[in-house]
Amino acid sequence: MSQNRRSFMKSLAAAGTWAAAGAQPRSAYAFEKDILTLGTDGITRRTPVLQKKTGTKLQRIETYTQGTNVSFVRVQTDDGAEGWGQISTFDADISAQVLHRKIARLALGQDPADLEKIVDRCVEENYKFPWSFICRAVAGLDTAVWDLLGKREQLSVCELLGGRPRPFPVYGSSMSRTITPEDEGKRLARLRGEKGFRAFKIRAGKVNGHDEDQWPGRTEHLIPAVRKAVGEDIQLLIDGNSGYTPPKAIEVGRMLEQYNYCHFEEPCPYWELEWTAEVARAVSVPVAGGEQDNDLAQWRRMIDMRAVDVVQPDILYIGGLTRALRVAAKAAEKNLPCVPHSANLAMVTVFTLHLMGAIPNAGDYVEFSIESTPWTDGLYHPALEVKDGHVAIPSGPGWGVTINPAWLAKAERQVSDLG
Ligand SMILES: [Mg+2]
Repeated sequence: MSQNRRSFMKSLAAAGTWAAAGAQPRSAYAFEKDILTLGTDGITRRTPVLQKKTGTKLQRIETYTQGTNVSFVRVQTDDGAEGWGQISTFDADISAQVLHRKIARLALGQDPADLEKIVDRCVEENYKFPWSFICRAVAGLDTAVWDLLGKREQLSVCELLGGRPRPFPVYGSSMSRTITPEDEGKRLARLRGEKGFRAFKIRAGKVNGHDEDQWPGRTEHLIPAVRKAVGEDIQLLIDGNSGYTPPKAIEVGRMLEQYNYCHFEEPCPYWELEWTAEVARAVSVPVAGGEQDNDLAQWRRMIDMRAVDVVQPDILYIGGLTRALRVAAKAAEKNLPCVPHSANLAMVTVFTLHLMGAIPNAGDYVEFSIESTPWTDGLYHPALEVKDGHVAIPSGPGWGVTINPAWLAKAERQVSDLG
């Protein structure tokens, strides 16, 4: 990492009130002095809307699911208020079943302002079924409750968290490894002109690749070709998607240093924290990671051992905004920037914009997919639009977007309620 960038990141974290708040006494419920420990009220302390009861209770939790990719959640309280959220994409139909079978009964009847306790209870009581599908389902509930709380206060979620809706810089994120280096360079140069992107992310190696490339020589060709195509003044990020052992990752990292890349994501299998830490120590390009990680104790280890220089929780994989905020706060304590994973244009990018508009250690850009994905078209309005390399954080109330009623009418509806 360049000295300039490192000191910029440090100044971001130092400027924030969250890092300072982290030094306050912990909740009596905490059994370790750590914000990520189950049972802490770390986010509640910082968020006025969570500090006062609403005097209502969660009456109904509905899911609206189409296919395997998208499932929206509506929560309603006994006074008729509602909020909308989304279960994590990909096998969302399975996660919707999990929400109704394993989560809903733990949340119904609770005051929505007790969100931290609800989320912790949903994860903890499902201790025999940890993480993936539980967290994906909890994320739907959590994001719907945040929308409800924002609508009650007539504020955006960003404002509930102490931020301000505004245009936020985004990086254009390529999801393709089948594209040739020449074609990738051409399309990014075109998007730079058309949309004003100032940063892009491309794909190195092969997913879980055991040091193989997508085809021989692609990565060695791609790194200089894209730099040449977009120019020296564009920030370039690259994602290894768990593809390398440390020696190969460090070899690729040397090329990234040579061509002035600013972010080397998931260079090693993500569960191999020691491997990732070895790469982070060896190369000057900041190493990023964490999109798959949904165990907060694993996050604590990752941050404390400095396995990564940049944290990337995915709001929907990790179990919602509440849990992502804990990771962001822990990272702020260690002066690490947060650049969440938001790799599609369903609601996760909306949620991420609100988060990034509020946290003191927000990185430079929100991830914004440049791929055409018909399944995300028309899901909500207003649609996110890139202008001059920025996307406006929706101004609320709540998330500030409305789910398309025609889409909902075609979806499979399931209901859990107090009866
Ligand atoms: Mg990634």
